[in-house]
Amino acid sequence: MDAIASRLIKARQYAAERDQRVRVHSFEVEIQGENANHIVTYDRGEWGCDCEEFMRRGLCAHVMAMEEILGDAVEPALLPLVG
Ligand SMILES: [Zn+2]
Repeated sequence: MDAIASRLIKARQYAAERDQRVRVHSFEVEIQGENANHIVTYDRGEWGCDCEEFMRRGLCAHVMAMEEILGDAVEPALLPLVG
């Protein structure tokens, strides 16, 4: 087997084992919302979004969508505890 083929096999193995192997540290993405686009950010467990819902409650559908997409590679975005 040549070197490129063996790297490809390894890459596919890493991708298949993403839950154990991949940790996301930071990213910025744009999500197309119903009425406007929103920027979701993540930096070592700190989530952010530029929408009103996130500013009011600290969680929104845009952040939850990114959690769903990235799964165990990110820290969960939790609602701030009230009271
Ligand atoms: Zn949002």
